[in-house]
Amino acid sequence: MKKSQKRKDVLAVHHDDEIVFLGTGGARYVIATQLRATGGILFRAGGKNMIVDPGPGSLLRFLSYVPDVRPEKVDTLILSHKHIDHSADINVYLDVITRGGFRNKGMLIAPHDAFGEDGVVHSYLLDHLERVVMIEPGTEVPIGSCTVQFPLRHEHRVETYGFVLKCDEYSISYIADTKYFPDIDQAYAADILIMNLLRLEPSDIDHLSIPDCEQIITTVKPAVAIITHFGMTVLKTGPWNIARKLQASTDITVLAAEDGKHYPIRQLLEYRRQQELRTKK
Ligand SMILES: [Zn+2]
Repeated sequence: MKKSQKRKDVLAVHHDDEIVFLGTGGARYVIATQLRATGGILFRAGGKNMIVDPGPGSLLRFLSYVPDVRPEKVDTLILSHKHIDHSADINVYLDVITRGGFRNKGMLIAPHDAFGEDGVVHSYLLDHLERVVMIEPGTEVPIGSCTVQFPLRHEHRVETYGFVLKCDEYSISYIADTKYFPDIDQAYAADILIMNLLRLEPSDIDHLSIPDCEQIITTVKPAVAIITHFGMTVLKTGPWNIARKLQASTDITVLAAEDGKHYPIRQLLEYRRQQELRTKK
């Protein structure tokens, strides 16, 4: 692809398209202290508003971090899995978007075990949704002018999936909680790569560590990688220190996500050009 072509693609991205972190914290201690918010991620893309993994306090964070969008305007809710730091506010949003059951609106996409007796979704709220999708490996769902794909099941204690959001001008991968396994690298090829990084070193715990993320970034070669979902050990080390190290070892721009920060997609894609300039030098 010619360079002028790439430039044009970035400009073709709608200026409203953005990623907003309603929280960058994860796990027990950070939930309890709210040292980082735990509200998940808002994706504004393809003319739609999608909330992913609304953990504890998500709606409150939404109201303060995204004052220009009313929460009733959320179209799609996605749960990667049912753990509480990913799902605590799911019923709150279901109630908000269906106006307490007074209008049929919205879509929920979640793993099978998020529903039913041991699930986290109140069944009485589901009747008022336009669509409910239970994720299988390979599931693809159109959302506005984009498509979300769930390539494979993760290795985590409960049923867990990440996704690739494919839009006309760009793609975004979200690698939710998982133990590292080699198929991940290929499955999540995208321009923007978001990873839940909870561990410093590889261990038996079902979470990505710093070396795992390094491996994934090196294979995927995105325009930019963003780490998020920090537990206490990562916070003590400093997410930005980790991001800097990852950037040095992979030569790809790596950002440590910040609570409430809006990341315009156009700006994120521009990191590819900066990267090209760096290698030219
Ligand atoms: Zn989990």
